[in-house]
Amino acid sequence: MKKPIKPARENISPSDLTFALSTCKRCLWIKYWYKVSAPMVMPLVGTLSLLQEEFFQRADMPTIDASLRPGKVTKWSEFVKSKPLQINGEETRWRILGKYDLLSSNDDGTVGLIDCKVSDSERDSGNFYSPQLEAYAYALENPAAGKPVTVASMGLLVWQPTHAIGDNSDNSGFGVYQKYVAVERDHDNFIQTIGDFINVLEGELPDAGVDCQSCRYISARNSLDSL
Ligand code: SF4
Repeated sequence: MKKPIKPARENISPSDLTFALSTCKRCLWIKYWYKVSAPMVMPLVGTLSLLQEEFFQRADMPTIDASLRPGKVTKWSEFVKSKPLQINGEETRWRILGKYDLLSSNDDGTVGLIDCKVSDSERDSGNFYSPQLEAYAYALENPAAGKPVTVASMGLLVWQPTHAIGDNSDNSGFGVYQKYVAVERDHDNFIQTIGDFINVLEGELPDAGVDCQSCRYISARNSLDSL
């Protein structure tokens, strides 16, 4: 597969710094150079995320977690776009573009960034999501347009479904265990991760992973065409 003269998209999605980067990088490369992505079927994810986000709109930050600075959630589901990313002092063609979940305006003029998750995955740790949240923070602190803000806190707000509630069809639902997972700022790790990411994109088409079910399916499906 030849690399086109220009990538089909030059805006890096923060979520690609977690799942996509931790697995095979071939699909990632194709996504950015050709804008072709594998279809994803994630029933309920959008609905559950929206319900959770709506629940915390205008919430007082210390009611979410006592460690958070005084302030209120004042923005949600807004896109942020960064200036071009700089790696080793050189400007690249790549920018961050993504939509955060919740953003607080703190009383001291800083902001707090919260990523909502409805999940029971062991993977909901600060380390795994640090590059993704740092990418949003980078875009907020280095915006393509408008005033930069200082991101004082970042964290995951996790709802883990634990039990069914209610006693009839009018009031039944799911109960959740809620936890706030603070994610420490780690700019150096972000720069390392985004640098690796850009190196993959600027390189040649990576090899396919060996264990991917999708790639096995594509190969098996393609081999049928020659029958
Ligand atoms: S192994 Fe194949 S389908 Fe799986 S991520 Fe890599 S290129 Fe994509």
